[in-house]
Amino acid sequence: MISVSIIEEIIKVVGEKWCLTDPADMATYAFDGFFKDYTPDAVVLPKKTAEVSDVLQIANREKINIVPRGAGTNLSGTSVARRGGMIMPLTRMDRIIEIDSVNRCAIVQPGVVNAELQKAVEPFDLMYGPDPSSWYVSTVGGNISLNAGGPRALKYGSARDHLIGLEVVRANGEIVKIGSKTSKNAAGLDLPHLFCGAEGTLGIITEATVRLIPLPEAKHTLQAVFGNLDDACEAVSEIVSSGIIPSAMDLLDQILINLIQGYGGVQFPDGASALLLIEIDGHPQAIEQESEKIKQICHNNHAIDIVLARTPEENEVVWRARRSIGGTFSKVCKTLINEDATVPVSSLPDIMKKVLALREKYKLNIGIMAHAGDGNLHPSIMTDAQNQDEMKRVDQFAEELYREALSLGGSLSGEHGIGLAKKSFMSMQFEETALKMMREIKRLLDPNNILNPGSYLDEER
Ligand SMILES: Cc1cc2nc3c(=O)[nH]c(=O)nc-3n(C[C@H](O)[C@H](O)[C@H](O)COP(=O)(O)OP(=O)(O)OC[C@H]3O[C@@H](n4cnc5c(N)ncnc54)[C@H](O)[C@@H]3O)c2cc1C
Repeated sequence: MISVSIIEEIIKVVGEKWCLTDPADMATYAFDGFFKDYTPDAVVLPKKTAEVSDVLQIANREKINIVPRGAGTNLSGTSVARRGGMIMPLTRMDRIIEIDSVNRCAIVQPGVVNAELQKAVEPFDLMYGPDPSSWYVSTVGGNISLNAGGPRALKYGSARDHLIGLEVVRANGEIVKIGSKTSKNAAGLDLPHLFCGAEGTLGIITEATVRLIPLPEAKHTLQAVFGNLDDACEAVSEIVSSGIIPSAMDLLDQILINLIQGYGGVQFPDGASALLLIEIDGHPQAIEQESEKIKQICHNNHAIDIVLARTPEENEVVWRARRSIGGTFSKVCKTLINEDATVPVSSLPDIMKKVLALREKYKLNIGIMAHAGDGNLHPSIMTDAQNQDEMKRVDQFAEELYREALSLGGSLSGEHGIGLAKKSFMSMQFEETALKMMREIKRLLDPNNILNPGSYLDEER
């Protein structure tokens, strides 16, 4: 509980309208995309960096927990008040401060929605690389804090690869600017990247300088259907080693194909057991040649159908069907658990075989999607959180999946982060010394452990 006098002090900083304590408001902020209920004591919505700083000074003095939050779409349970305290959504700080088309960068406040930034830079023939499927709602601050990426991370990288500068408010309220506008920077420790993937535990991002990249002149998408997953995986390996870098390469299994069959008029032939969506972008002539080469590779690996989308409209039809998957799950299950493991791309066939075997072993309904070109696998478990027996099997499945991914040289997460979901697996990936270093950094920056406590950086599991 936060005392009335402290709430009054915070109201003096942000105004009465922006400090919420009504239980109805608390319910809105009790969940994120991981759907576990953690009701906060209060919610504070600052408009300016100075307000963030003032609130943090009070919180640090009183040892009140603060959980920064963007749109709350993360799938790992990392923007909820796991130990009580205040949620601090940064959504009112949603200004694009500058688009510098000459130096190809933008300075934005953390609450800017990813798709809004994309729209704003497009007239300059530029784009912001990170493209999480949630881009119509998720914020740049949330994207950076989770090192989010999307299909085109394969060619352009994730949020970390586009981050060059930050303004951060430390736990004690100090405001610090780190990084610069330059694309090259060899001065000192690389502090901005420390906050990327920190999941709101080290400081509150109040401004970000992000790199922008030229908007590609043209785009093709090849939709290749295979009779089995092995052939599709072989095609992925050959495309990756052919020297072509697709801007996206997503793989869907039969269960997911059946879910999107017919969406927006998209039809797949009988016997479709695996679908590869391969997007290439660049100069129109270059991508014509690359399309031909990829088509040949897919034919050589026994593709049973290949459709080439050339125009923006044709591309949109193909990708809209792929993006529709998220919406279709609610029709077939009560609870969806979206796992997120990464393996070296050469190990994709191995991890696929393992997931199929585990699906059988634990008798679970799992559709498999992968950002195949970068070995990032998303088994989508269609389940019911009320079914305790099934949830036990879901946990066993997840633990075996991550163990296998790590044994193949992979990582616990490609893009969704750790949060609550994978906190207990951290010691499977990291040596104790590495975990100790992470905790020491946390202690240095936030000695009272007020920023997003209960995270993967906490001592006790
Ligand atoms: C339908 C759907 C599709 C998705 N697809 C993808 C995908 O393709 N790729 C992908 O990577 N993710 C995906 N996600 C997960 C999620 O959208 C992303 O992780 C996104 O980056 C979260 O942004 P957010 O604004 O919702 O942040 P939140 O979920 O609110 O917060 C995420 C983390 O960032 C911290 N944080 C937020 N703002 C700040 C700040 N200003 N300063 C410090 N810390 C802060 C929070 O404390 C929390 O730890 C998807 C989610 C959904 C629901």
